[in-house]
Amino acid sequence: MTLKELKLGQSASILTVGGEGALRQHFLDMGLIPGAEVTLVKYAPMGDPMELKIYGYELTLRLEDAGKIEVEAVREPEVRQDVQRQRRMIPHPGLGEGGKYHAKEDEHPLPEGEMISFALVGNQNSGKTTLFNRLTGSNQHVGNFPGVTVDRKDGVIRGHDNTMITDLPGIYSMSPYTNEEIVTREFILREKPKGIINIVDATNMMRNLYLTMQLLELDIPMVIALNMMDEVRENGGTVYINIMEKMLGVPVVPISAAKGEGITELVDHAIHVAKYQESPERIDFCDAKGTGGAIHRCIHGVMHLIEDHALQNGIPVRFAASKLMEGDSHLLDKLCLEQNEREMLEHIIVQMEKERGLDRSAAMADMRFHFISQVCDASVVRAGESREHIRSRQLDRFLTGRYTAIPAFIVIMLLIFWLTFDVIGAWLSELLETCVTWASDSVGALLETMHVNAVLQSLVLDGIFQGVGSVLSFLPIIITLFFFLSILEDSGYMARVAFVMDKLLRKIGLSGRSIVPMLIGFGCTVPGVMASRTLSSERDRKMTILLTPFMSCSAKLPIYAFFTAAFFPEHRALVMGLLYFIGMAMGIVMALVMKKSLFRGEPVPFVMELPNYRMPGAKNVMQLLWEKAKDFLQRAFTVIFLATVIVWFLQSFDLRFNMTDQPQESILSLIAGFIAPLFCPLGFGDWRISTALISGFMAKESVVSTLSVLLPAEEGIYGLLTQAGAFSLLVFCLLYTPCVAAVAAVKRELGTKWAGAVSAGQCLLAWIVSFAVYQILLLIGMQ
Ligand code: GDP
Ligand code: MG
Repeated sequence: MTLKELKLGQSASILTVGGEGALRQHFLDMGLIPGAEVTLVKYAPMGDPMELKIYGYELTLRLEDAGKIEVEAVREPEVRQDVQRQRRMIPHPGLGEGGKYHAKEDEHPLPEGEMISFALVGNQNSGKTTLFNRLTGSNQHVGNFPGVTVDRKDGVIRGHDNTMITDLPGIYSMSPYTNEEIVTREFILREKPKGIINIVDATNMMRNLYLTMQLLELDIPMVIALNMMDEVRENGGTVYINIMEKMLGVPVVPISAAKGEGITELVDHAIHVAKYQESPERIDFCDAKGTGGAIHRCIHGVMHLIEDHALQNGIPVRFAASKLMEGDSHLLDKLCLEQNEREMLEHIIVQMEKERGLDRSAAMADMRFHFISQVCDASVVRAGESREHIRSRQLDRFLTGRYTAIPAFIVIMLLIFWLTFDVIGAWLSELLETCVTWASDSVGALLETMHVNAVLQSLVLDGIFQGVGSVLSFLPIIITLFFFLSILEDSGYMARVAFVMDKLLRKIGLSGRSIVPMLIGFGCTVPGVMASRTLSSERDRKMTILLTPFMSCSAKLPIYAFFTAAFFPEHRALVMGLLYFIGMAMGIVMALVMKKSLFRGEPVPFVMELPNYRMPGAKNVMQLLWEKAKDFLQRAFTVIFLATVIVWFLQSFDLRFNMTDQPQESILSLIAGFIAPLFCPLGFGDWRISTALISGFMAKESVVSTLSVLLPAEEGIYGLLTQAGAFSLLVFCLLYTPCVAAVAAVKRELGTKWAGAVSAGQCLLAWIVSFAVYQILLLIGMQ
């Protein structure tokens, strides 16, 4: 029977794991190995994916993938004899005279003044960024959404000047399959940090130590930071640190990154092992006895076989051997083995597979988990179900419940949008706008009294203050929106949204994680594009960014309001609803097109951990907001500033570069007049409308404000457009290039080429769709 056929609440033991390549390795790395026990917790409301419990944590898995995993007929859940072991508590040894892991006589400290570099490595969501911020005092984004950290960040450990620590993306394994894994692996192998700080989530030991096993093989000085000990302690669990240390052969320091406990000791140990280059005491975890014998012999055989090649390439031998056995083709190419050696390698491994009765990847994963369970049995007193977990389960009954999940999601999103755009953000925006107006008026008065040149006055007032100011007034909305989103993210709800929505998004070639940026896009494309950074798969991230502009942003509302009031007073809501719908429909069509062309290939497997709900830390949220504000301000004063000045120039000067206040003489109107005929077939070929559309590139709201400047009277609009033309114009406004702020955001995420493609592509698409809409409307006899 396969995992797919498991019934709710039923447990089973895994027999074989199907699938191939990256997907299969990912299964194995997440703990889905033969012999592991899984329990089906629930299905997402739409029936796919499923939530599984394995090694005491929750995992999502698509049904399709679950069908590839064979399980053994149901067993009664094993009753664990949790004998309370009596052990004397021995104080955790400090560094001692010469350190714990090296003898005094072979002390070779790094030369004074040499930079001690550390890599901070750990599972996703294990508290890396929290620890990094603790260590360096910097403001990195911390989230409770697996995969928040996408690229690396460096910092100096506070109080230790010649250190450098790098926060690497969260990974579950050192397999080179996801971007994060490659970044981390390349960083460690290429830049050779002097030490590794491996952060391990103590509430989730089995899974976290899996990565530790692979890090130990790198033979780089390492300390283990056992994080979340506060949670473990509160729930009555303990870890016998000394035993764990002894079994793993590296210093283990219990800490709580969130509460700042144990940090000093961790830093001391880390600097110590790095300074004296104390490698892990043992890197050999294959059990020579029992079932592990075959794999033990195999690993050591492979090690001898490739030793010279690994040394030549500066790759730790044991690590190289393990990876080769897992069928890592990147490494195989890198080692440049000769044909004979390759064949020998294959023979050794095939023999092992035969003796062990498991294929190579599964055998390796099994070997690691076998050792980990020994470590955990000896050193971990498991707590009862933790308070956090009970709370999460209760919350999940509602938030991912079959009938309640989707309504709850809709209500939460509506609430956030309402608060952001109607209440808090709008209020703050008005406040800021008042400030900007006041500042602009005072500066204007000042310039006036000083008799400053009229051109300069116009530049400052009509250009900079008007342009940058209007963009700046978005800042509060963006900050408020991010405030709520970071709470959703930090609390762990975002991962649930992805779980609930995965099935729907799968249909258009995306995975559940893409829902969040797109939803934000209805508010504003800029934070939406920025939020896509939480997506771990490059392909999904690109697609999501390209689709976000199709979600009609709130700045387009004034356009809709203006034209529907003028042309469709009877059917305002209908027309607006239709526009939002057309936007989404185009998004879906584009997604399908992209799926078939640019982004062929499978969406990443949706194997995601569902973390416990946690109370977001105020400090973390504040740090995030500050970072976003800084980000936005940076942009406002660079890209947007420049663009504003350009448009101001085009608007205020005529062809002979004289200032003009006749709009129709400005360069902008000339350009607009030049492109206006392009829009004739769409029903709005007037130069004033083209001007408005061009200025709409600055900010969508200015489409309306520009028109009102260019038209002497409100009724003038009836002279420019028919009803059909107005609708076609609305569709065009909905679809054409996103504003400069959004394009700048796309540029930051994907580069100049994509940003250009987005602007040009959307204009073209808007033209085609508007043309079609206009012609159809004419055909059915609308005027
Ligand atoms: P990363 O994905 O590894 O960078 O993990 P983060 O630093 O983003 O942390 C993930 C979550 O764990 C956040 O909600 C933190 O507030 C929480 N967290 C981190 N360290 C601790 C800790 O020591 N104790 C507790 N209770 N929570 C923690
Ligand atoms: Mg992080």
